[in-house]
Amino acid sequence: MRLSAGDAIDMRLEPPDAVVQIARKLGESGHEAWAVGGAVRDALAGRAGEDWDLATDARPERVRRLFRRTVPIGVEHGTVGVLGRDGVLYEVTTFRRDVETFGRHAVVEFSTSLQEDLARRDFTINAIAWNPLTGEVRDPFGGLDDLRGGVLRTVGDAAARFAEDYLRVLRALRFAGHFGLAISADTWRALREAVYRLDVLSAERVRDELNKVLGKTAAASTTLRLYAESSALSQLIPELAATIEIPVEDGLDAWTLALRATDAVAPARVQLRWAALLHTIGYPAARTRDLRGGWRYTGHERFGGDRAAQVLRRLRSSNAEVERISRLVGLQSDLFPPDAPDAGVRRWLAHVTPGYVHDLFRLRIAMWRASPSPRGDADLKERWQHVRRVRRDRPVLTLEGLALGGNDLRALGLQPGPRFREILHDLLGRVLEQPELNRRDELLAIVQREHIGS
Ligand code: ATP
Ligand code: MG
Repeated sequence: MRLSAGDAIDMRLEPPDAVVQIARKLGESGHEAWAVGGAVRDALAGRAGEDWDLATDARPERVRRLFRRTVPIGVEHGTVGVLGRDGVLYEVTTFRRDVETFGRHAVVEFSTSLQEDLARRDFTINAIAWNPLTGEVRDPFGGLDDLRGGVLRTVGDAAARFAEDYLRVLRALRFAGHFGLAISADTWRALREAVYRLDVLSAERVRDELNKVLGKTAAASTTLRLYAESSALSQLIPELAATIEIPVEDGLDAWTLALRATDAVAPARVQLRWAALLHTIGYPAARTRDLRGGWRYTGHERFGGDRAAQVLRRLRSSNAEVERISRLVGLQSDLFPPDAPDAGVRRWLAHVTPGYVHDLFRLRIAMWRASPSPRGDADLKERWQHVRRVRRDRPVLTLEGLALGGNDLRALGLQPGPRFREILHDLLGRVLEQPELNRRDELLAIVQREHIGS
């Protein structure tokens, strides 16, 4: 079916009741209320829509007066949060039109026209409005056709729309990847040019966008491949672009391995997906010739941890995220061998620290799934069970868990200083080996025998 501008077709989408109630209230007060944006697009594409947003000709002050419970989310931009009966906060935004745009953000003014409001939206598939009371669809830019035909296209002239807001370049790649759409020739041509202006975007916006790529799409690799193909990758994360065509395993390059590992992690685990995506980032720096003329990558994990931290800091990720993700990358190969004794598992636990254990295993599983011909690691499940067995005894893994501390050393007449830590580390090493040694009298005896001398 070919729809032309303004065509009304009846379509029953299924928004939450609370959305219909909010629309009804606006309607009864003489206002228009349209569901717009992501949820309409998702629902029309046959996916559960989240974030049902409404657009209305009512001004924000009016919306605030009409509903009992509202939150001024961004009143100056026209957005009021209205608390639905289901306890969800729905965004109700006054129709807007762009007055001025800068490539990063726009100055908008309120409008009374749905058409104008749809015209400022980025892609045709995002510019479809649906009336929750009547089922009427307004689709002036052919978004439904594009959705059906599998095409991603800007509303209006692509080059101009990207120049207004370069984030749209990344949004285009994400929507194309997420919905499996082909980017139209015009839009792609303009996008390939606009990629070189991505440097005007703030690190935070890029990071948030990448988090959506990783957090919303099961096959994030489809989008990430488009990042590479469009050169957005080399603009934003050249360290990752450098892994393309670095041969690693059975004809697979470091980039492809990283993509496969990323897809093997559930989207809900965004940090772990970052670790999977960055886990081969140290290969280019570590690459050296081996004696037979092939390549080796000894120590790529350490380079990788450093580079991952560099990338994430540049994207202004939180310190906690930088620390966690880069540490996972650095530790990716540090798993105890299959035949390790319990003491080996305890030493490994002390080395990686308990908070990393689960994710390290998950990362290893993802790497194993990514591998075209997995060799080791077929026994990951058994090794995981081994960890659980060992942890059941709640072994002491840190200095704090020792039955003897600094005070005891002082009481023995030892002077505080680096020597203290040395002694305590020695004791921990022994306790990891033989947990039954962790008794005050035993440890005191060891200190007297080994460190003070008799
Ligand atoms: P998602 O929530 O999955 O990121 P979305 O399309 O819902 O996708 P939002 O950022 O929630 O994205 O924005 C809601 C709607 O606002 C979009 O569907 C689009 O119509 C419009 N919009 C959002 N960002 C832009 C932008 N940078 N330029 C133009 N229109 C935009
Ligand atoms: Mg949304």
